[in-house]
Amino acid sequence: MPEPSTTLPSRDQIKPEYKWKMEDIYATEDLWQADFDTLKGYLPRIMEYRETLSQSAARLADCLKLRDEISIMAGKLFAYARLHRDENTANAKYQSLVGKAEGLLADLGAASSFIEPEILALPDATLAQFRNNEHLADYTFYFDNLARQKQHVLSPAEEEILARAAEATQAAENIFNMLAHADMTFPDITDENGKTLTLSEGRYRSLIMSPDRRVRKDAFLGLFGAYNALRNSFAAILTGNVKKNIFYGRTRRFTSTLESALSDGNIPVNVYNNLLTTVNNNLEPLHRYVALKKKALKLDNIHMYDLYTPVAPNTKFNIPYPDGLQLVRDGLAPLGPEYAAVLNKGLTSGWIDVYENKGKQTGAYSWGVYDVHPFVLLNYNKRLEDVSTLAHEMGHAIHSYYSQASQPYATAEYTIFTAEVASTTNEILLNNHLLKTTADKLKKLYLVNQYLEMVRTTVYRQTLFAEFEKSIYEKAEEGETLTADLLDEMWHALNAKYYGSEIVIDPEINTEWARIPHFYWNFYVYQYVTGYAAATTLAEKMLTEDAAAQQRYINFLKSGGADYPITILKNAGVDMSTPQPVELTLNKFSSMLDELENLLSNS
Ligand SMILES: [Zn+2]
Repeated sequence: MPEPSTTLPSRDQIKPEYKWKMEDIYATEDLWQADFDTLKGYLPRIMEYRETLSQSAARLADCLKLRDEISIMAGKLFAYARLHRDENTANAKYQSLVGKAEGLLADLGAASSFIEPEILALPDATLAQFRNNEHLADYTFYFDNLARQKQHVLSPAEEEILARAAEATQAAENIFNMLAHADMTFPDITDENGKTLTLSEGRYRSLIMSPDRRVRKDAFLGLFGAYNALRNSFAAILTGNVKKNIFYGRTRRFTSTLESALSDGNIPVNVYNNLLTTVNNNLEPLHRYVALKKKALKLDNIHMYDLYTPVAPNTKFNIPYPDGLQLVRDGLAPLGPEYAAVLNKGLTSGWIDVYENKGKQTGAYSWGVYDVHPFVLLNYNKRLEDVSTLAHEMGHAIHSYYSQASQPYATAEYTIFTAEVASTTNEILLNNHLLKTTADKLKKLYLVNQYLEMVRTTVYRQTLFAEFEKSIYEKAEEGETLTADLLDEMWHALNAKYYGSEIVIDPEINTEWARIPHFYWNFYVYQYVTGYAAATTLAEKMLTEDAAAQQRYINFLKSGGADYPITILKNAGVDMSTPQPVELTLNKFSSMLDELENLLSNS
């Protein structure tokens, strides 16, 4: 087998202007060590506040400010070690710094773990008085959020039992991970070039897109065959996880598991229910897409294993990094001059680590370091996806930049619910710009295909998941047993409803629920849909409205975690408690189908 990594440059062969500036965190390793030692000395200091927080608002304020100071410093220590390690994961020196930083973080967490229980134990009147004290002005939202959760906190003895059970109740998720990622075996299949390879989840993702129907069918049958063989075990594991979540929800006095899962972000249950209703009312465009795909691929009948096949031939984009930067600048221009200035700063001031090198961490991420600036890891390789990734990660980075510059530490961190909004808005704006400026028909077809697949897999598919998840909890809460037969039947019915009568629902798909990792967590997937719909709405506002909309968008980025996500988005101009954001998204999907029909009929 060829070793692709041997052709990669070593890190010192990469020009400095394409590397992030770690020295912005610490100019030398000695300074890192000095902060590390200082922080160790803070451990006994924070412990001195134990059992004294009720004494006065000033005392509580001192304690919370010390905790913030510690967290900011710990954040810098950890980021410096981790980002350096990701430059070359084989570097033992930074591996050891990461280990040291992790150990310190764990000690700090343990040393300050008394704070929240002590605040929650305060009498309501004291908490209300503290909430309005000037020393604690930065913590108003923090107190409101704690007070809101107070009714779900149990007695100290009960809380201790729950805490001790935590490791044991993790079993279902752990077993899923072991079975699906370590012990499961998949059959060998033959690829397009006649080469035999062993199927895996990772390989499946590209094989299912194969233009060779025999290959994608074999991959489909091979993958789902393996899950089918273990369906009763997966049903038992899923049941274990569902029962665990029901147990915690009921114990904490929630009316349903769904309500308990959404309560973390204070998301009203009707946001979830509206989403299901709105998508169910707009399934027709998905049926039309299936029919168009069948026509474009010239198939007599379309099967589940044809869904991922692109309607466009694979078009090579070759975009050198400077051109990628220009595309991102142009694509994000609708966000206005203020955003453009921060973007420029980010693109030119050592935030980004651009190219792949030997040993570098794969993938991409953005990492905000409070008091410094955000850092972005890329593995830029001239593909169109790499440009999208740059726009996406800069969305996160600029969100962090604004939040950290505008918020005290206590409210600087944004929630998962809003995080993907800032990144996806950028991706949508870039895609819009590319569609507008691309004349080449094959490239245009490729872009339209990308967009449609994005909405199909993010909005429709994840809503199908969310609908399944809600149903299994309702059934389990009513005492029904989640057998493999029942789960298969539910999954089959949902697929038939979502994809419509044109498609053949191959029986092998029925056990697909078994392989979705999110079902072994707790009501997570709906956020992909709400995030995408909110981003579509905001991108649309940037393209059609005036400077006031841009200002609202900047204010959204500045809000960090200063309020509940639904309120923050409402202030930005998106009301997630109404059907509009999802409707707008699916209308866009419909007009892109018109575009696809046009392109196909003219080719
Ligand atoms: Zn992201």
